[in-house]
Amino acid sequence: MLLLNAVLDQGPDIEGVRDMMVKVVNNLYKKEVRIFHRPLDFFKEINISVDQIWSIHEEVKSVRSAKWAKDNQSSPQKYNLYMDGSKQTLNYAVFRWGVPLALPYLLDKKNECGRSTSLLDYLETYSSAEKMSNGLKDNEKFGLGKAIGDKACHLFTKWMVSTFRLARKQDELGWGEFSYEVPFDSNAGRVLWRTGYLFGLANEEEYIKKEVVQKNKGKGGKHYIRVTNMRGMAVSKNVPSDLIKIYKDICTKHLKTHKREPRKIEIQRFQHALLSQNGDKNLTVSAFDDGLIKIGRNYCFNHENPRCEECPINRHCDGRNSNSSLITDYRT
Ligand code: SF4
Repeated sequence: MLLLNAVLDQGPDIEGVRDMMVKVVNNLYKKEVRIFHRPLDFFKEINISVDQIWSIHEEVKSVRSAKWAKDNQSSPQKYNLYMDGSKQTLNYAVFRWGVPLALPYLLDKKNECGRSTSLLDYLETYSSAEKMSNGLKDNEKFGLGKAIGDKACHLFTKWMVSTFRLARKQDELGWGEFSYEVPFDSNAGRVLWRTGYLFGLANEEEYIKKEVVQKNKGKGGKHYIRVTNMRGMAVSKNVPSDLIKIYKDICTKHLKTHKREPRKIEIQRFQHALLSQNGDKNLTVSAFDDGLIKIGRNYCFNHENPRCEECPINRHCDGRNSNSSLITDYRT
């Protein structure tokens, strides 16, 4: 269920996506289409599956579209939880629901014994949660490919390792609190940009060069911030040597993406070193991401009037305190 949820969670309205998924799954189970126990049911009863997704999507849209449009300065007609602007329910059902449902089914078939832990057994064959996250998308045999984005892979990994603590190897560094990257999404990118955090790591020209900032390509001709383009981008500003050492340990012992110490410090991983430097057990990657989501969804709206006065981090925010153009001139 978490894997399906992570795949679907790539839409514009997290609450709406979750509401839709819960209602569709409950309705399918009421009709004995038990998709998590018998994934094939989803395809055998494809008429019921598609009908339910279509009708519940309409229901959620009628309830949530007005509020969503107001918060995002958009129009209710644009509310759409299918991804990539798709409007076709069959395509959405088979591609976004069908692929994650097929993975545990395939693994069960492979084991030929229908073990209830087939999926978890497979996921834990990776030496770290980060490697599992990459394999979830890219594995040549079992990867979900384009059905899942990098952010969704990392969101699933966060849920598995930290939120629901399902990983049985959590005592190993490779499956601990610093063993995966933050699932950066547009909310996170907006908060990190407006607060000025990202300017401590590189300058605006470098973000423009990597198309993290796309001049005048955002809503209403504002500059567009595409945080996913930050992946792999190097920190160019000076970093204290103690943080560099912690960062290298994170890459080799926790994420396990490097056998030897990396030369490059990557922006999307740098907060791991900041979070772990004082050994405070509450400062985890998961808590950092939860905070970004909370601020992005409840205060830092994607328009020029975010709720800065009530925002819990307003004392630390450059956009609010010293450079309002970070709020007025950029959109995600
Ligand atoms: S103070 Fe305002 S601009 Fe800064 S993070 Fe909070 S809501 Fe966003």
